[in-house]
Amino acid sequence: MHEVAPINPWVALAYLASGILFILALRGLSSPASSRRGNRYGMIGMTIAVVTTLLTHVPRTGEGAFDTIAIAEVLGAIGIGAVIGIVMARKIAMTAMPQLVAAFHSLVGLAAVAVAAAAYLNPQAFHIADAAGQIFTVSRIEMGLGIAIGAITFSGSVIAFLKLNGNMSGSPIMLPGRHVINLGTLAAIIGLVAYFLTDQSPWVFWTITALSFLIGFLLIIPIGGADMPVVVSMLNSYSGWAAAAMGFTLGNTAMIITGALVGSSGAILSYIMCRAMNRSFISVIAGGFGADADAGAGGGAKEQRPWKPGSADDAAFLMSQAENVIIVPGYGMAVAQAQHALREMADQLKKEGVNVKYAIHPVAGRMPGHMNVLLAEANVPYDEVFELEDINGEFAQADVAFVIGANDVTNPAAKTDKSSPIYGMPVLDVEKAKTVLFVKRSMGGVGYAGVDNDVFYMDNTMMLLGDAKKMADDIVKALSGSGH
Ligand code: NDP
Repeated sequence: MHEVAPINPWVALAYLASGILFILALRGLSSPASSRRGNRYGMIGMTIAVVTTLLTHVPRTGEGAFDTIAIAEVLGAIGIGAVIGIVMARKIAMTAMPQLVAAFHSLVGLAAVAVAAAAYLNPQAFHIADAAGQIFTVSRIEMGLGIAIGAITFSGSVIAFLKLNGNMSGSPIMLPGRHVINLGTLAAIIGLVAYFLTDQSPWVFWTITALSFLIGFLLIIPIGGADMPVVVSMLNSYSGWAAAAMGFTLGNTAMIITGALVGSSGAILSYIMCRAMNRSFISVIAGGFGADADAGAGGGAKEQRPWKPGSADDAAFLMSQAENVIIVPGYGMAVAQAQHALREMADQLKKEGVNVKYAIHPVAGRMPGHMNVLLAEANVPYDEVFELEDINGEFAQADVAFVIGANDVTNPAAKTDKSSPIYGMPVLDVEKAKTVLFVKRSMGGVGYAGVDNDVFYMDNTMMLLGDAKKMADDIVKALSGSGH
């Protein structure tokens, strides 16, 4: 057993306080009403953790004074990171958040790999080796896990980024014999991590690293269409475990707590999303295990079927005459930033005595909670916003389903067409409403899964072609101007 330096009680107390604040932050983020408070707790907790780490880790010279060169290096690195972070946060469009999150996860994975590599190359500096340079067994376990999880997080997140950013097809890419390749690679990684306990030769360490980069890539390329949301939250979970592993290597309690919180909350979120999407958790984490090789090749080609065009005036008339209107927002509403215009439209309708509700599908948009965030930004009252399971039964009684920039989440093929890449995903039953008003820019555009939607061609559907914000603005004008 190696000696562990006793931890300063003030440092332990500070890390405990930040850990509690992180738990309160997660609690706050569970509801839109308390999410600002949750964010504040998280920021205070992180400030305490960063300041404590800086104060305790800044190197000192032989005489005990602070080493100014080291301080300048640390502050310089923080400054550069902060500038990049601020510029990105200001410039990034809300619709590009999922790929930004994926990019950040990849950095966490890469950081875990870098820390593990630094510790491996210079173990005495990390106090994890004896005088002869033999790394302690427990540290080899931490290092093996850290490098494996970190590398998988990195390459998996890079693929997720490329898919979400449109640089790579969102459809599943199925390699022949992928199950055998994946299982073989995973078994080799586990075997090598076990072997690493007895032999710390560079070839073992670097082979684990290379195979882990490879498996991250192999696990994510077959995932597409409806499973991407689960992948994003799963990678979030992996990034937490990678950070926790780094915490062990660096002997930093705050990092272990934070990593474990991110890892477990991400895993729980992935599980909840799998249930919401009717997917098996194991099949998603195992990488497209449930996916059908024929599905996802773009699904059905778009057909030349008759459809009914409509205008903002038609929509204003139909909705003002309705008793119940259910609004279904989707990715296109986010692209067009139509949430404020949409709320104005709902306000006008409510003034005319129409009962307005919003139906939110768990994967509408491009990240979990995407629609809730946008509607909250536009001050839509929370009690008008309903989850899929709470509102789906109401479409049959609704006079109008107003679908704005949503597509896949309304596609009935998910219920009936076994060859569809979204088959099995629960969808909003918009087609049951008396009238469906469908806002999108053109008949040619498809949703994320790339499939046609039968709702466009139904007798009770009116297609309102145009930009979502412009259409909502025009409907507001029509409602307020002509005294419908
Ligand atoms: P979709 O991607 O299915 O459809 C978006 C629709 O919006 C399209 O019909 C598009 O048609 C229309 N649109 C785009 N821009 C505009 C605009 N400016 N004005 C008006 N319409 C516009 O969105 P959904 O929200 O229905 O479904 C989300 C999909 O994304 C699901 O397949 C889900 O699995 C996937 N996904 C979800 C994630 C999540 O965590 N929520 C993460 C990753 C993927 P047109 O081009 O003709 O305008």
